[in-house]
Amino acid sequence: MTAAPIVTRVGAATDTGLRRRLNEDAYLAEAPLFLVADGMGGHDAGERASAAVVAEFARLVGAPSLTVDEVRVSLRSARARVDAIASDGRGAGTTLTGVIVAEVAGVGYWLTVNVGDSRTYRFANGFLEQISVDHSVVQELIDAGELTVGDARGDSRRNEITRAIGAGSDGRPDYWMVPAAPGDRILVCSDGLSGEVGAERLRDILVEEADPQDAATRLVHEALLHGGRDNVTAIVVDALAVSGDHDDVFDTAPAGARRGEPDGDTRPRARSRGDS
Ligand code: MG
Repeated sequence: MTAAPIVTRVGAATDTGLRRRLNEDAYLAEAPLFLVADGMGGHDAGERASAAVVAEFARLVGAPSLTVDEVRVSLRSARARVDAIASDGRGAGTTLTGVIVAEVAGVGYWLTVNVGDSRTYRFANGFLEQISVDHSVVQELIDAGELTVGDARGDSRRNEITRAIGAGSDGRPDYWMVPAAPGDRILVCSDGLSGEVGAERLRDILVEEADPQDAATRLVHEALLHGGRDNVTAIVVDALAVSGDHDDVFDTAPAGARRGEPDGDTRPRARSRGDS
């Protein structure tokens, strides 16, 4: 049995929230996959879409690590499953984001994937950085200089996403390869967390709660305290040990997310985009 390139410890929590009837979020938090899916659609279609994507990726649980190609194949199968739900006559779709343990030349990496507006963050050396870039109308307005990050959280278009798995989207994912280091803490969440709780508060909780399950539970609770207007899900993954020599690593993370280059901006400025 090959050793895992990143030894992880994980906690996860989800809640329907205070306003919704169904919890359409789904998550997978078993090595090597740490993923959140936020479903959308009438009746129970959103719930079924997010569950279908998680079920597809759950087939890969237990592998020490995965490759981008393996993730792409699963994403294609996941999309077919969501499209089948949609063909019942009700539109169904889901976001997907998170990290998958990967390995390149003996070095452990966080293979980060994103479709939609759920988020993946890295907390390292006291700094919280958003790795994923939202596929959303407000993110496009921010990129165009027409909206500030501060105003975006209160914008009426904040729930409009520009890419999804299903829902008539081609679902093209973004991928990033982020070199892992011991002590890294990854936060994967639905917009029910990031839409209710600001980045500074997220960071404070990640500092205060050493145990990843305590951190995930507290983050979800915090979203409820802020109104709980949406389903809310959080996964917290700690890297306990990482294989490899980190002196010469391949890094596609946003510049600000690189180790040793902390600044106060949690918004990524660079991305590499893959397709499935
Ligand atoms: Mg949501």
